Amino acid sequence: MTLDNIKEEIEKAKNIVILTHESPDGDAVGSSLAMYQALKQLGKDVDLVIPEHPKTFDILPCADEIKKTGRDINYDLAIALDCADTKRLDGFENWYHESKVKISIDHHGSNTMFADYNYVDPAAPACSQILIIVLTSMGVEINKNIGECLLAGIITDTGGFKYEGVTTETFEFVASLLRIGVNVSEIYKKVLQVKTRANFELTKIVMDRMEFFQDGKISFTYITLKDIQETNAEAGDHEGLVEIGRDLEGVEVSILLRETEKGYKASLRSNEYVNASEVCSIFSGGGHIRAAGCTIPYPLEQAKEKIIDRVKTFLK
Ligand code: 5GP
Ligand code: MN
Repeated sequence: MTLDNIKEEIEKAKNIVILTHESPDGDAVGSSLAMYQALKQLGKDVDLVIPEHPKTFDILPCADEIKKTGRDINYDLAIALDCADTKRLDGFENWYHESKVKISIDHHGSNTMFADYNYVDPAAPACSQILIIVLTSMGVEINKNIGECLLAGIITDTGGFKYEGVTTETFEFVASLLRIGVNVSEIYKKVLQVKTRANFELTKIVMDRMEFFQDGKISFTYITLKDIQETNAEAGDHEGLVEIGRDLEGVEVSILLRETEKGYKASLRSNEYVNASEVCSIFSGGGHIRAAGCTIPYPLEQAKEKIIDRVKTFLK
């Protein structure tokens, strides 16, 4: 069984590297920090490598131990968390590929099963929730610090416990954290509720530019590198922008294009029936049924036309 293999490989490994997806969100950072502390608890020599992460998550235990780059060695074991394919390992695939054994723990339906051992559960609302099972099977005590990191991942990936993937285990876990003294309300506020000024400025821009297509079933908006510069936006400041369109009456698919050095990064959200991950698959992207993304390496007008045309084919 994969869980037994994971336990065994972790027991064997002396040095371990933990990696996650580019543009890391709360689940990416939270699950990575939880795994990092769990491996430390087991006495492992472990590096958590995340080149850039939103400042919001600096409040989490051990966030100051995140490294921007790995060591110049072939690690005994690499663990990828919350990552659907190796292309998304933030240009740091080398540490992954060159490690002796590879594990992936994830909840994306589009996961390509790229590791030696893949523990993937698309029904889980967050990778952090899967880690409750994995860490327990490893014999790790989920203490307050580890619990806070897992909680941050669950809160952010479930939009504050409101998405359909939330299960009884989600609330049972939160109850267990309350019992050991975790301040759930405070973590919720810090990782989800409080917005940065740059995020607020970007919100005004995307609202102003929002357009609707197909009788209002598609909402479309965008931000450019110039906007990012002018608002002094940093990693993570675009989080939540795509949800503005999603939450409007009649919208089935919300599209946000965000300019990057590699082209336009599309973020999609759907409400009832469009499989956003499938929409993005044609552009070599993926994700979940209701939240997915891809990169479209074209100028704005062409990228916009391509993604809207693709979404149209999924509408009823
Ligand atoms: P977001 O729109 O918040 O960036 O991403 C939504 C979901 O889609 C996340 O679970 C994210 O990991 C996934 N996702 C975003 N972009 C890509 C991509 O280019 N490829 C794949 N495979 N998944 C993506
Ligand atoms: Mn996730």
